[in-house]
Amino acid sequence: MFEKILIANRGEIAVRILRTCKSMGIRSVAVYSEPDFRSIHVKEADEAVLLGGARPVESYLHMDKIIAAALATGCQAIHPGYGFLSENAEFAEKTTAAGLTFIGPPASVIAAMGDKIAAKKLAGKARMPVVPGIVEPVATYEEAVAAADTVGYPVLLKPAAGGGGKGMRAVDRPEEMASALALCQQETQKSFGDARIFVERYIKKPRHIEIQILADRHGNVVHLGERECSIQRRYQKIIEESPSCALDPALRAKMGALACELAKTAGYVNAGTVEFIVDERGDFFFLEMNTRLQVEHPVTELVNGIDLVEHQLRIAFGHRLPFTQEQVTLSGWAMEVRICAEDPRRGFAPSVGLITRYAEPRGKDLRVDSGVDAGSTVSVYYDPMLAKVITWGENREAARRKMVQALNGYHIEGISTNIDFANQILTHPVFVRGELSTDFIPTHLLDPDMKLAAPQEVLHGMATATTLIYHLRENLLQDSLRPLKSRVGVAVPAREDFEYVTKHEEHIFHIRLEKKGGDLQWQVLVNNVAYQVITPPMEFYRRRLKLSINGQDAFFRLKYSGNFIEAAHCGVSGTFEIYNPREWQLAGHMPPPTERLGGNVLDCPMPGLVVAVKVKEGERVFRGQELVILESMKMESAVSALGDGVIESVCVQPGDAVETGTVLVHFKND
Ligand code: ADP
Repeated sequence: MFEKILIANRGEIAVRILRTCKSMGIRSVAVYSEPDFRSIHVKEADEAVLLGGARPVESYLHMDKIIAAALATGCQAIHPGYGFLSENAEFAEKTTAAGLTFIGPPASVIAAMGDKIAAKKLAGKARMPVVPGIVEPVATYEEAVAAADTVGYPVLLKPAAGGGGKGMRAVDRPEEMASALALCQQETQKSFGDARIFVERYIKKPRHIEIQILADRHGNVVHLGERECSIQRRYQKIIEESPSCALDPALRAKMGALACELAKTAGYVNAGTVEFIVDERGDFFFLEMNTRLQVEHPVTELVNGIDLVEHQLRIAFGHRLPFTQEQVTLSGWAMEVRICAEDPRRGFAPSVGLITRYAEPRGKDLRVDSGVDAGSTVSVYYDPMLAKVITWGENREAARRKMVQALNGYHIEGISTNIDFANQILTHPVFVRGELSTDFIPTHLLDPDMKLAAPQEVLHGMATATTLIYHLRENLLQDSLRPLKSRVGVAVPAREDFEYVTKHEEHIFHIRLEKKGGDLQWQVLVNNVAYQVITPPMEFYRRRLKLSINGQDAFFRLKYSGNFIEAAHCGVSGTFEIYNPREWQLAGHMPPPTERLGGNVLDCPMPGLVVAVKVKEGERVFRGQELVILESMKMESAVSALGDGVIESVCVQPGDAVETGTVLVHFKND
């Protein structure tokens, strides 16, 4: 096996590759740009070489610097990861010319497959169905319209050199052709330095299904089943799974055999992916072949129980594939979500900055491939994808549920992410039923009017979590005051049930918390629906909370500010406001206490114990006058009137334990 290799990439994929190197006893060399000097891939590699400035052309795209680094550190091979130079034939050629092994297919195959027109022609040779279209570039408006007339509208204009969905444009009518063609040509010239465009039939509501293959240097090719990547935004994948609901064993075998056939025809070596588009009738068409490790490769690894990077390294070294097609067995279901630094509430604008808090979900059948941690900076120079969460289950529903819970427990602060957006997709009934297509997001999630009402159990769970945590946090302070209670001579019996009113948007929840043996077990009534809840011991300030609700683990992400708690769970996120019933009534349900200052009640500013009440009913008081004395955190402090007025009623007496927001005094309305 290789003794030492260089990984020409960054982020999660660099980390993922070097971990396989470690497990195989191969030493790894990382490369990095200036802003990446503290990255995980730099820390975890055996050696690291600085390439240059932040801009990819100065670092991760600089072929000569990378090859020089590999030679200087005594590497035998280069793994390109995905993106950057992974599908660059010139880089593969230069690597080989320098006496190093390129971990991927031969440069000539990369070049052939990198050109969509050439690849389509090759696929035709391998008797693969291809999307109807004209496989010659169109240069002028007249040529484009003629091609579209032949193919039939709607058509898709596609850059021959394309990748990452860039430059593609759907054209519904001939009138749209002129502007679409101009934009497509501009974009593709800018992105790929190549303005060739071809015309293909636009398939409506398609599924994206791809076949993973492995080919060794000895002519053996196997496929490892499919991945479905239909959940996309602007032609970019967000959620992937393996297998796909759309394939049965016969169709899988057929598409798999065709993918292997194409690999053989092309002289393919190493890991590769043949992408198909499947129309509403279930007919499939070749899209393209990706000559590298895909972002979504882990779902294939989990259902096959293999390490694709390990096989890439073995194949590149010259090993034979250790299994035949008959020995490939798929088990269970795997799902992947790409975690991206973007803000779904602001049109998915990229979100950059420092990650101030970071906590990954952990557990059985759960894998997180991440390139970031607390303290990492997300910069404008690189891809917004930070990490991937991959789950496995016996079946699709088990993998999906595991993913929802994993995302509920994935906490990132400092930047915005698509975590809750992904959970909105994962919990959408159409997704749950497996009715996927590439226009799922625009059809079901982009129009705010289409936003589904959150299911009752999700809202009740969130109301329970926020109320319990609010209650426990307030009580924690009160318990610390217990020794003081005897001093004022009033024995306060320990209460066993508590009532609250919790508000979230237009929902109001009446909540009763009843202690059930021990400090951790509760019966919670939410609008009279009973839930048996177990809380974790003493973790009430943490941003992630795990509750057991009716025997099921549920994770919540929480952020506190007084009786306002921001919560996220199962794709629902927002503020929950918690009140005690008296406060709720006095407030006339609205507005919240922070906006009531100077109104006709005096709120308690902190949790504590009432030591003295210095006013009586009917008494006239003046602004700044001390009304109630509290003892809290070992200190006495006075609560004073915020304005002049007449006391209508005094709501507390010495010895009362009070909470933030408890009404102390009620003033007469003038
Ligand atoms: P890229 O290489 O830029 O990623 P692909 O050819 O792989 O481009 O296509 C990416 C995505 O674009 C597909 O997954 C699919 O959603 C959409 N797409 C591509 N071709 C078609 C088509 N003919 N009809 C409808 N959608 C298409």
